[in-house]
Amino acid sequence: MQQNVRTRFAPSPTGSLHIASIRNALYCYALAKKYKGNFVVRIEDTDQSRYVANSIEEIFKVLKYFGLEPDESMFHGGKHGPYIQSSRLHIYKKYIQKLIESGNAYYCFLNKKEIETLKPKYKGRGFRSPWRNAPQTEIQKMLSQNIPYTIRLKVPENQKIEFHDAIQGQIIFDTNIVGDEILIKSNQFPSYHFAVVVDDYEMEISHVIRSIEWLPSTPKQILIHKFLNLPMPIYAHPPVILDPDGGKLSKRKGTVAAIEFLKQGYLPEAILNFVMLLGWSPPIKRTYGEKEQEIYSLSEFVELFDLKDINKSNPTFNRNKLIWFNQQYIKNINPDKLTEYFLQWIKEFKNNDNDNVLINKIINDNCLIEKVKLLNTRSKTLEELFDGIKFFYISPSTIRLHEIQQIAHFFNQIEIIFENIYSLIKNMPEDTKIWDHQSWFVEMEKISKKYGINKGDPFMLLRILITGNTVSPPLFESIQIIGKSEVIHRLEKFYEYIKK
Ligand code: GLU
Repeated sequence: MQQNVRTRFAPSPTGSLHIASIRNALYCYALAKKYKGNFVVRIEDTDQSRYVANSIEEIFKVLKYFGLEPDESMFHGGKHGPYIQSSRLHIYKKYIQKLIESGNAYYCFLNKKEIETLKPKYKGRGFRSPWRNAPQTEIQKMLSQNIPYTIRLKVPENQKIEFHDAIQGQIIFDTNIVGDEILIKSNQFPSYHFAVVVDDYEMEISHVIRSIEWLPSTPKQILIHKFLNLPMPIYAHPPVILDPDGGKLSKRKGTVAAIEFLKQGYLPEAILNFVMLLGWSPPIKRTYGEKEQEIYSLSEFVELFDLKDINKSNPTFNRNKLIWFNQQYIKNINPDKLTEYFLQWIKEFKNNDNDNVLINKIINDNCLIEKVKLLNTRSKTLEELFDGIKFFYISPSTIRLHEIQQIAHFFNQIEIIFENIYSLIKNMPEDTKIWDHQSWFVEMEKISKKYGINKGDPFMLLRILITGNTVSPPLFESIQIIGKSEVIHRLEKFYEYIKK
């Protein structure tokens, strides 16, 4: 690619980052990295009334989780700062002055009520204020009386605005349907439309990649560029992500905030991989019948990424597919790394839980990795891993007699069978690490033979008593990890129970 690639991700601090924003951030990041350019993060806070506390911190935290680390931002520095719009008010001033002087923007003294009254007249057409052509003397009079005003863009009539969108192709807008947008609000803050143009120029942004929802704003921004004689960035508007039930992906139908997915125990790499394939077709040639590659690391994506491979059609957010990706990552990631993720996740997202004792035990466990290794093929999320790992640290709280009753056809002989299992374990060496799996297994099988019950029954009874569940990681390995004395302790709880 040609020039110095500089992309920007420009979230507003109005709440949690939507998963669709992660896709935009990913595209911006990938394009910049591919061409050794810079990925800029700019905070767009011109609408101060919509500011949500802590959302700036959350934006940067989430980007960090996904490995989409900015090269320039309010926290990373850079020579195009400040990187938050509310600290750039002095910069917008000189540009608005130019627009007024050239007659491409005008003071408007309409109040809210007057605007509401005028609006119906402009239905289907671009709004025009009666102040658009007011004589200079009248404007000066109003200004000298300190009447509140806004500054509006003077959109020319009967023109066509044409531009090439790198994803959507050739786009044409009729200026008659483009309203005289407010550029400076009555509180003297710039509007989004104005600030975005000034900032993209000042920050030397080469590519503006943002959701298609911003496409209707583009003609206004192009006009501002033209009036100010500024070079235009390349625009690319990826399509909206759809919910499988139809309509736009929205929080009424399930999780959409990136931080929520992380909280639920999805690995950042898995989410990112899933997001990569929402509308991007990898430029990989396949021979007939060859399976499509689905697993991509961020660096592979960066290498392959090109705007031309983003589809115009809307991708669908298939939540089951996301679970599938997560499962693949949990299963295949190096157990060291998974353990690290798991610990990080617990510290970050489990700290408000009632499980404090358990959490402390997990955090201080030097042998956590052994347990993780037994569960990584059985957990679809870190939350499931957390649920699955609990029994290593805390003994089952209640004796699940009901469950035992259902699975054990030997209920009438349960006491004697239990005693056999108990004494088998009691007679094993203290150090479970030296137990021999095969001989333990043979001894357990002998019990079933002796009492004419199914081979699996003693194992199932033991499993329920040790883990509190009918499904668990391999029993022998679990016992080895729990240790003999704790196993005996758990069995004795049952012993007391049946003796009552
Ligand atoms: N600040 C806008 C948002 O929060 C982004 C607009 C843009 O990228 O031009 O979605």
